[in-house]
Amino acid sequence: MTAQLHARHWIDGEWVDARDQAESINPATGETIGNYTEAGEPEAARAVAAALRAFRQTDWRVDRRLRAKVLNDMAGRFEVRAGHLVEILALENGKVGPEAEFEVSMVPSKLRFYAALALTDFGRAMEISPGRYTTTLREPAGVAGIIAPWNSPVVLFIRSLAPALAAGCTAIGKLPGLTAQTNTRMCEVFSEVTSLPKGVLNVFTESHSAGARALIDSPDVPVISLTGSSKTGRAIMAAGAKNMKRFGGELGGKTPILLFDDADLDKALPKVEKALTVFAGQFCMTGSRLLVHRPILDTVRKQLAARLEAVKVGPAADASSDMGPMINIANVRRVDGLVEAAIAAGAKVVVRGGPFKDGPLAKGAFYRPTLLEISDHSMPIAQDEVFGPVLVMQAFDTEKEAVALANNSQYGLAASIWSTDVDRPLRIARQIEAGTVWINNWAVVYDETEEGGYKQSGLGRLNGVSALDDFVEYRTIIHEVDLGMSRQ
Ligand code: NAD
Repeated sequence: MTAQLHARHWIDGEWVDARDQAESINPATGETIGNYTEAGEPEAARAVAAALRAFRQTDWRVDRRLRAKVLNDMAGRFEVRAGHLVEILALENGKVGPEAEFEVSMVPSKLRFYAALALTDFGRAMEISPGRYTTTLREPAGVAGIIAPWNSPVVLFIRSLAPALAAGCTAIGKLPGLTAQTNTRMCEVFSEVTSLPKGVLNVFTESHSAGARALIDSPDVPVISLTGSSKTGRAIMAAGAKNMKRFGGELGGKTPILLFDDADLDKALPKVEKALTVFAGQFCMTGSRLLVHRPILDTVRKQLAARLEAVKVGPAADASSDMGPMINIANVRRVDGLVEAAIAAGAKVVVRGGPFKDGPLAKGAFYRPTLLEISDHSMPIAQDEVFGPVLVMQAFDTEKEAVALANNSQYGLAASIWSTDVDRPLRIARQIEAGTVWINNWAVVYDETEEGGYKQSGLGRLNGVSALDDFVEYRTIIHEVDLGMSRQ
């Protein structure tokens, strides 16, 4: 890996630099690894022009076989270039090896799943009354603006992009400055897909939101697909209202994990540890609220504390690290401020965790896992998304109380239930306000099954067949046929 990388935007099949320079930082060391230029309105305008031209003037929107071929070809290129992407995700995003590999490994099957769906449409035709036929076609909505976050930039961009392209949209990706180098490597893969027509896919990087705002304000971009925080989701919906913008949002979460007294703790506690520490808790589905049946509270407290204290925090470059850094020092400080405030407000410390004050890791954005015990679920630490490795634990006595605590949240992305009873987990799963519920597991996602949020966690679904809905319009054509016979 050379010392200085340079990331660029990829618009209309060309590599583009903008004006203002910014630096890319390795979160494990605080060192500069490269630079990039900040995109903004001019790059967004150029991308809109290219994507609109490709939508209107090429066969892309009507040629489903071409779209399937491009998605399959892309999957193949991602397989060939997986190592390059894993390497940059570890360096720039801080992911430890297995996490970076996991993120990249999810991409090819997603592209192939939507390649197949591009060939299999769900419109319908009817003879609705004698001699009168209706044909209802699902047509691409137009240019899709895709805004992705920094926490898993590769797979989260592809999760929106694959259904957008399958549906026949052309696309513009607005990716975060914090992952500028990763964004560029991903664009290198796109640039190697020779079947991809120029202008169908355009990507720019910015750390602010001037370019994103230009996409939202443009009447030529009818669809915005955001993966990001609920706050950004609300801001984008409000900004898009004047153009009646279609909005799909995969937003924040505060995933509860419910541990019942009949749970298999040997299976549950390692998963609870991972639910907190995967990507240093910077995951929309991070298990951040642990609800524990009172009879097992003491055992869980003791065993989980031991597990969290033993988590080896360190850089991705060290293969023995269990948990990598957070994305930057600013987020370490923000998370520690939330923990301090929670302790001051009465949360009991089980494992304090927190930043390293000295030693080699003090220069990086590391944060050791933290476990706090609470009895008031309205505390901000239990209500707000922390987006770091901080877990709050609270006891419950009855199933009803467990469900009420789990649902005591503005979020509804996911939940995890642990019990060896046959009926209880399904009974509870049906009562929890969340788009995904795992029984005796956590964070299992499939390309084939819908993923998304209730309440403030989102609008619409990605993955599964339903992801296409964000990117299609329905057109009904009613056609009269003279049947050559008299009608009533
Ligand atoms: P964020 O909302 O700050 O930013 C997301 C993207 O939106 C970025 O590209 C950002 O530049 C852009 N953005 C921010 N403000 C904007 C505005 N006013 N107008 C237009 N664009 C704007 O989120 P983040 O910090 O990058 O990511 C973390 C958040 O994403 C967490 O809340 C996490 O739960 C959520 N997330 C959700 C999922 C999911 O599948 N539900 C997956 C990953 C992350």
